[in-house]
Amino acid sequence: MKIPRGERYELCSSVHAEQNAIISSSRIDMIDSTLYLVSKNFEDDIYVSNYNPCALCKRIIINAGIKYIYIRDDKDNYRHILVNDYINDDDSLEGKLGY
Ligand SMILES: [Zn+2]
Repeated sequence: MKIPRGERYELCSSVHAEQNAIISSSRIDMIDSTLYLVSKNFEDDIYVSNYNPCALCKRIIINAGIKYIYIRDDKDNYRHILVNDYINDDDSLEGKLGY
């Protein structure tokens, strides 16, 4: 449909990994929890570096009560994110919809 990544979620039939993790857990387990994310290319099994949750997943992560996220960039490196930073630096307010 040639829709840019991160836009028109209502047309996408997939459930993102972040959403799947959250809906598979109880609410009480989400509060102040830590979410670990790893993304690899299907074809070559290589880590996707600089991966970030999409705008919709960020909203769901915030509202789930998750406190920290660790995102693996490669075999040895990962980023630690304080979810409150998604609120304080809300890039969707600047019109950034993709990821
Ligand atoms: Zn997402």
